[in-house]
Amino acid sequence: MCLTCGCLLAYDDHKNSDRLTMEDLEKSATLDHVSLAEAVANIVATVEATNPPPGTARLFAGSPQLGRRMRL
Ligand SMILES: [Zn+2]
Repeated sequence: MCLTCGCLLAYDDHKNSDRLTMEDLEKSATLDHVSLAEAVANIVATVEATNPPPGTARLFAGSPQLGRRMRL
């Protein structure tokens, strides 16, 4: 998807290499010797554990799963 905008085009960086794509995630998962599913779970857990400062909680409002798990 580019992995963040919600377009569901996993390998499309929309002509901007700063965007995170499935290819980037695959490379990183390979480096860490984890499956893609584990990598995704680790990303969610890490974002949740990051405990964003007050005022940034709204950034997670668009993700029902993250919002619920973070009690936003
Ligand atoms: Zn996209």
